[in-house]
Amino acid sequence: MSGFVFSEKPIEIASGDGVYLTDTSGTEYLDFGASYACTPVGHCHPAVVDAATSQLEELMYVQASYPHAARTALYEQLSAAGPGDVDNVWLCNSGTEANEAALKFARHATGREKIVATTQGFHGRTMGALATTWKQTYKQGFEPLAGGVEFVEYGDSDAMREAVDEDTAAVILEPLQGEGGINPAPTAYLEAVREATEAAGAAMVLDEIQAGLGRTGSLWAAERHDVVPDVLTTAKGLGSGLPIGATLCRDWIAEDAGDHGSTFSGGPVVSAAAGATLDVIEREALAAHADEIGAYLRDELESRLGDDVRDVRGDGLMIGVEVKRGSNRLLRDLALDHQMLALPAGRTVLRLLPPLTIEREHADAAVDAIAEVVG
Ligand SMILES: *Cc1c(COP(=O)(O)O)cnc(C)c1O
Repeated sequence: MSGFVFSEKPIEIASGDGVYLTDTSGTEYLDFGASYACTPVGHCHPAVVDAATSQLEELMYVQASYPHAARTALYEQLSAAGPGDVDNVWLCNSGTEANEAALKFARHATGREKIVATTQGFHGRTMGALATTWKQTYKQGFEPLAGGVEFVEYGDSDAMREAVDEDTAAVILEPLQGEGGINPAPTAYLEAVREATEAAGAAMVLDEIQAGLGRTGSLWAAERHDVVPDVLTTAKGLGSGLPIGATLCRDWIAEDAGDHGSTFSGGPVVSAAAGATLDVIEREALAAHADEIGAYLRDELESRLGDDVRDVRGDGLMIGVEVKRGSNRLLRDLALDHQMLALPAGRTVLRLLPPLTIEREHADAAVDAIAEVVG
């Protein structure tokens, strides 16, 4: 036994191309989880492979204190992409680190300790981000985690208004919860969070690590709601599977963020991959495509699955299908009998996060497969 902790699946993947993964025996699988939303432009997109490969040959690494073209270009792209005036960029290596930085920056800029997080929220597994993650089993045996975190019911504006006060450094939440069951936040709720944080001088941190990069039908979920946070975090699909995360901040946070750093921050290869990924999302208008094909997919799921499921919900290509029994068995049947890969979100929700590049034929194939396993 070598690796541990992760539970392994009985399929050994050998290669990936677009919306398909192929195992070592040559069987193709439709990847409707995009390997946890990490391949928004599809597996091994040629533009991303080219950018990373040329960068690898040119310069694999240089210490973060020297500027290099790939990182400088990515700073500019992310700065321009950030919603409203959220245009200062900190680069790191994963989602949890992006949130860890967000919480550190917010504490430093406000000089306060308290952090408000939400029930069912997921923000990562390091000691700070984990402290803001809801699920108890992720924390068991690892305490004490970072202190000063208070949880409020996700979606409850009054509870949020009551919790956010003059001691609050930050509120952290997902605009559409992924891991917690695909729970969309109503616009009025996000507006209430925005008002409460602004009134208290606290930072509103939107974790878009799963929902961002076009997945919900606009580049950022925040834009769908017309809410501009103080800090926005992204990771997962940013490097098309290479490890990179980013914390985007407004000036008042960035100007007083304190002393933070990371050896691999914005390394050349991941920066090149992220720059190319953002290019493809923009050039192929994948957010608008996700909006359109996502609406089609949800409609088809609703009409085909009918009473066989409890609910179909989500935005764009971030879709939850709440089923009537445990989702694990269904996911296994989908994979082994229908060569379709999807994800769980809790015990009773099938989570669909396909590459944003899927076409109707893929949506139809997925609906056929899901209809068979839930029927
Ligand atoms: C996956 C995820 C994280 C953690 O990202 P890692 O790269 O696994 O550390 C944080 N927040 C959300 C919403 C996520 O989906």
